[in-house]
Amino acid sequence: MPSFPFLGLVALGPVDPEILRQLRAALTKILALPARVLRPKPLPQQAYHAVRQQYHSTRLLEYLLTDDDSRAYRILGITTADLFIPIFTFVFGEAQLEGKAAVISMCRLRGEIEGFAPSKSIFLRRLLKLSLHELGHTFGLGHCRQDGCLSGFSANLEILDRKNLAFCQYCQALLADHFRDQGLDQVKRYGETPAPGAPIPTADRPRRHRR
Ligand SMILES: [Zn+2]
Ligand SMILES: [Zn+2]
Repeated sequence: MPSFPFLGLVALGPVDPEILRQLRAALTKILALPARVLRPKPLPQQAYHAVRQQYHSTRLLEYLLTDDDSRAYRILGITTADLFIPIFTFVFGEAQLEGKAAVISMCRLRGEIEGFAPSKSIFLRRLLKLSLHELGHTFGLGHCRQDGCLSGFSANLEILDRKNLAFCQYCQALLADHFRDQGLDQVKRYGETPAPGAPIPTADRPRRHRR
């Protein structure tokens, strides 16, 4: 059991402090697990692939835990750099299954919707979905096939936008078990929760059926 149950947010390279603040507020509200912005770290050159011009996300996970003295329950790295793992051209993020570290990239989140740049609230909503998805892995969730569930795999922005900002009931039950096992019973809400001061909520686009 952790001595200090909080979520640590670590900027990897330059990240807009306002985005970190809003993400921290929204995650605290939704997870009911206090989130804190920790000391930023520079992007490590050893994780950079010069030909791909991307950072290897698995190495960033290791890097996040190097010299980590934060006592955080989980650490979420946030970067504007583009991420990859060798079998994919890019990834939105990566996490250690039932481990401590997760990382997400903002690089691909500003993609256009039908020719228009996304509003700030849509951008933040995408960021929040990615954060919760990757953190879900650290809490033991695998990829879920329930329609709209946050724990489903997103290969692109369209799929990410179609997801709800919530885990399905099955994943919620698994999360509840995880937190109960960890003695973190105060962590009880994973669904959609308006976060005061954070312009997160906007309506999801109408849900489409899977083919
Ligand atoms: Zn995943
Ligand atoms: Zn699910």
